[in-house]
Amino acid sequence: MMSNTTGQFRGQSPQDIRMLIGNSLVHGVGPEEPILNPRTGTRILGLQEATDEQVHQAVTAARKAFPGWSRSTPGERSTLLLRLADRIEQMSEEFAALEALNCGKPYHIVLAEEIPAVVDCLRYFAGAARCLQGSAAGEYMEGHTSMIRREAIGVVGSIAPWNYPLMMAAWKISPALAAGNTVVLKPSEQTPLTSLLLARVAAEELPPGVLNIVLGRGESVGNALVTHPEVDMVSLTGDIATGKKILTNAAKSVKRTHLELGGKAPVIVYDDADLDAVIEGVRTFGYFNAGQDCTAACRVYAGAGIYDRLVAELTDAAASIAYNRSNDDENEIPPLISQRQRERVASFVERAAEQPHMEVTTGGGNGKPEGSGFYYRPTVIAGARQNDEIVRREVFGPVVSVTRFDESDDVVAWANNSEYGLASSIWTNDVSRAMDVSSRLRYGCTWVNCHFMLVNEMPHGGMKQSGYGKDMSMYSLEDYTTVRHVMIKYA
Ligand code: NAD
Repeated sequence: MMSNTTGQFRGQSPQDIRMLIGNSLVHGVGPEEPILNPRTGTRILGLQEATDEQVHQAVTAARKAFPGWSRSTPGERSTLLLRLADRIEQMSEEFAALEALNCGKPYHIVLAEEIPAVVDCLRYFAGAARCLQGSAAGEYMEGHTSMIRREAIGVVGSIAPWNYPLMMAAWKISPALAAGNTVVLKPSEQTPLTSLLLARVAAEELPPGVLNIVLGRGESVGNALVTHPEVDMVSLTGDIATGKKILTNAAKSVKRTHLELGGKAPVIVYDDADLDAVIEGVRTFGYFNAGQDCTAACRVYAGAGIYDRLVAELTDAAASIAYNRSNDDENEIPPLISQRQRERVASFVERAAEQPHMEVTTGGGNGKPEGSGFYYRPTVIAGARQNDEIVRREVFGPVVSVTRFDESDDVVAWANNSEYGLASSIWTNDVSRAMDVSSRLRYGCTWVNCHFMLVNEMPHGGMKQSGYGKDMSMYSLEDYTTVRHVMIKYA
């Protein structure tokens, strides 16, 4: 379908990009959505979204497939998930080129980081499926024995964001399918292309109806899934505001929800930290994917003894990030996903720059971003204070703020004083402090002397308004199951 790194169609026609409903690859017949190339701002193609009737067909297909899939053995499900992983691995270049085209991501990074992570996620859950257990609970009444069955929930509506389209889809569908659920996946309307390639592979590898993939906007197709009476659970990765809407709408049918929402990761750097490691860490993970990452190392708190050097070195490091080279192999980060997102990021930086106590030390409005795509310069904002908008709100762009703290300041309280609670990091060579602070941070994850290290064996998920429910790990598999009690009278 697509096999080069420069963002042109090659091989099959765009007409081959279709949704998956039951065992049929079909085009949407609803309104058309333009799919843009963020590197150039130009239209790649238009795709028609699913109608309510097509969403209904997808849910019906998933419902019909549920009894067979949920009663298949974990070993059988595992075999099919491994096969899906193998196919994606074999087609790595095709998937990577399509993701690079749709998101503007550097092809070499998608190929080296994201596609292997997708494959590993499927393989992890293929294995995990075989380790999921109920239990023989015991005897609590004379002559009766109890057991706990751990069972699939039913039809899961999975709603994915645009920042890592295929990886987020994998985080959702892998545990859901491994546990025996059937799935209707809705990728972001902005970045559906790799999910639609997955549709083609799934049509060949999975039984009909086990995985369905529908296309369209959140308020139409997403909401049709959330409100459909035959959908038992909705899993979202997205914005807090979207999570709240979905919660409200899912409440009408008391649907189970699983929400991975935004983040604003604090990065606490103590005076004794290894500054070179800090700069390398923030340069990489404050700006990875142009900061369009819910765990981005975007909110730095620097001790008074290290603050000046940190700002100076981070400024140089951010300015050195290759972000808009015509030779894509040289790029380290992509553009932003859309013009709207670029305007949103720019407005945060402009408002910060208007405040006398803050300084944009690199990036921001220092000259026009080159090129016609949605690029934004890697930006550092020094002198930020705890109550500044740039410290409190998720920017989702290549912007890192630095706030100074003194010994008398309770920096852990500052870090915790946020509606978000997804990821955090501490940088120090004092083990006692690392243990103490990590126990006091109210975040789903705390990294010490590193940031953004995600592994499929460990849970990823939020506290506070960053949501609830875990991705990755056995905890995620459990989230896609329900426990039932069966009691047997034998005497
Ligand atoms: P978004 O909330 O705008 O969209 C996410 C998905 O929800 C899309 O598929 C969209 O079509 C759908 N949607 C929107 N409104 C809906 C509605 N009313 N009903 C049903 N579905 C609806 O988010 P985005 O802009 O695509 O992604 C960025 C956000 O995702 C950021 O806030 C980021 O922090 C968050 N995110 C979180 C994680 C995590 O693991 N916690 C990971 C990646 C992204």
